[in-house]
Amino acid sequence: MASLTVKGVEGRLVTVPTGLFIHNEFVPSLSGKTLDVENPSTGEKLGIISAATADDIDRAVKSAKAGFETWKTVPGSAKAKLLIKLADLIQRDTHDLASLEAVDAGTLYTDSVGLNVPQAIGCLRYYAGWADKIDGKTLDMDGGIAYTHREPLGVCGAIVPWNSPLMITIWKLAPALVTGNSLIIKSSELSPLYAQRLAELVKEAGIPAGVVNIVTGEGSSAGQALSEHMEVRKIAFTGSDIAGRKILQAASRTNLKKVSLELGGKGPSIVFDDCDLENALLWTRIGITANNGQICAAGSRIYVQASVYDRFVEAYRKASVSAPTVAGDPLDTSTTKGPVVSQAQHQKILDYIRQGKESGARLLFGGEPIGDKGYFVQNTAFADVADDATIMREEIFGPVASIAKFSTEEEVIAKANNSHHGLSAAIFTNDVNRSHRVTKELESGQVTVNAWAMLAPNVPFGGVKESGFGRDMGEEALEGWTTVKAVKYHILPRL
Ligand code: NAD
Repeated sequence: MASLTVKGVEGRLVTVPTGLFIHNEFVPSLSGKTLDVENPSTGEKLGIISAATADDIDRAVKSAKAGFETWKTVPGSAKAKLLIKLADLIQRDTHDLASLEAVDAGTLYTDSVGLNVPQAIGCLRYYAGWADKIDGKTLDMDGGIAYTHREPLGVCGAIVPWNSPLMITIWKLAPALVTGNSLIIKSSELSPLYAQRLAELVKEAGIPAGVVNIVTGEGSSAGQALSEHMEVRKIAFTGSDIAGRKILQAASRTNLKKVSLELGGKGPSIVFDDCDLENALLWTRIGITANNGQICAAGSRIYVQASVYDRFVEAYRKASVSAPTVAGDPLDTSTTKGPVVSQAQHQKILDYIRQGKESGARLLFGGEPIGDKGYFVQNTAFADVADDATIMREEIFGPVASIAKFSTEEEVIAKANNSHHGLSAAIFTNDVNRSHRVTKELESGQVTVNAWAMLAPNVPFGGVKESGFGRDMGEEALEGWTTVKAVKYHILPRL
């Protein structure tokens, strides 16, 4: 079996198979097509991996159909045990999985170990707890009685991005499986390695063949073929707005499969003058620098109330320039800044920074690439950014903050809502009435008060407006992976 070995944390070698994971076996793509796997810290090629095309997707669907027939007969308690087993194996392999995310996606090893991997484990354990609690209702109706029954959809697809890839994949895998579906995961062509180890763990956990298939390949071939497939009943997608629209179009011109979309964001962070400014400084900085701003929920628009604006902006600058940024190998635990994921993403961020400089906004710090190897870019912030500036309106997906002033609550709500996105927002205030008023008014899938984008497996995550629809995590996600059947009994009158 073809494999690829990378140097992980502390020089430890990590090997993964490079085939497509279909019916619990690793197989080469039928076309023989491969993709290069690159290390964004150095720009060097790590190796190659099989790339699925439409024929492979068809093969995966056949496997998933067989897998579904088996899986739907497995009792909830047994499903729960398998999910818990998978969580335990992910925990065992934390260092390898975090190493793979680091060399492949540029994620800091420390972030993977501290957040992404534990979130994935927590999500599996949380949904395992649902396995025997997916109930219907009993209803009285004229002339009889009815009950409803939550049923799986069948063969489903998950198309996932390269940022925090293990965590986002598990956000889909765990509720899909616990509700009885089989799943084909299409990992991102930019960060496929974690998924290859995940596939090995799926098999080791004892999940029956066909229940989880994992393939990688380009969006325009493998992703599109999955979205168009007539026997796939749902696509759960996380990624860009452009790809999300294509998936929705594919569903509408084929079998009207169910689609959930977790798309981009341009998250407002609102700093009111009554807040704990030190706390706001901390979280507004984390909100745009965590994972180099490559987070859909990034707090990329920072609105600060006029009476504290100058003080806040200066403190923001000072805190950022005096904090030692250690850019380098994301595997090194002393590194605080890894690379962005690819040359294209690097160039895109630098283009936005150039537009920011040209827009008349005040460059507070940063604004340059770092080094001449790999895809590093400085943490960057602009102040006095106009509402209509491109850097205030478009998702950059990089460590670039746009700061602007506001005077009143009404004004900042209007500014925050003046976006086609609506994924995540943060507000900083010590006024409990204001926090309730503002959170109610914000057009956003989630609002965090006095922090930024907290995550937990029991709390739903997703967007409104053009940030998409459907939810990952929480009880709400279960609905997206099931359909409801109403069974009606006509009760005959006594003769
Ligand atoms: P992307 O849309 O380029 O790729 C995401 C996935 O979609 C990849 O697996 C890709 O191969 C696939 N894909 C691309 N074109 C496709 C097509 N035509 N049909 C089917 N699949 C296709 O996005 P990306 O660059 O990997 O990720 C960055 C984007 O993801 C950002 O916009 C970010 O905001 C968003 N994101 C959203 C969330 C969320 O939960 N809302 C989380 C993370 C990332």
